[in-house]
Amino acid sequence: MDCLFCKLINREIPATILYEDDDVIAFEDIMPQAPVHFLVIPKKHISTLNDISEEDAPVIGKLPIVAAKVAKEKGVSDDGFRVTMNCNEMGGQTVYHIHMHVLGGRQMTWPPG
Ligand code: C5P
Repeated sequence: MDCLFCKLINREIPATILYEDDDVIAFEDIMPQAPVHFLVIPKKHISTLNDISEEDAPVIGKLPIVAAKVAKEKGVSDDGFRVTMNCNEMGGQTVYHIHMHVLGGRQMTWPPG
């Protein structure tokens, strides 16, 4: 499958991996938008949030758990951090394998751009 993040999971492209289990992997974003910026993704290829089905619930449910665990390891838990998932073009999605952005280490603003 010609998917960047599937290739990353299969070690066909490099990444700095922060967490991995049978279902989920977390890695540093290559173009960080904050002092802490990593991505948490399911190993199963799901293109967009629109493509999640009921059977994916256990795996999708792990994403925020892993996000919080790695955020704690990164030292941003107490000050706070932001979790974002972009969907399709208007949502700002550029890689079509769902991913949770976790950003921290600076003050976030609202509304997002
Ligand atoms: O939400 P969106 O699809 O725009 O986010 C994709 C993210 O994947 C970007 O933040 C980009 O920097 C990141 N990326 C990465 N490693 C790659 C390719 C993209 O961390 N090899």
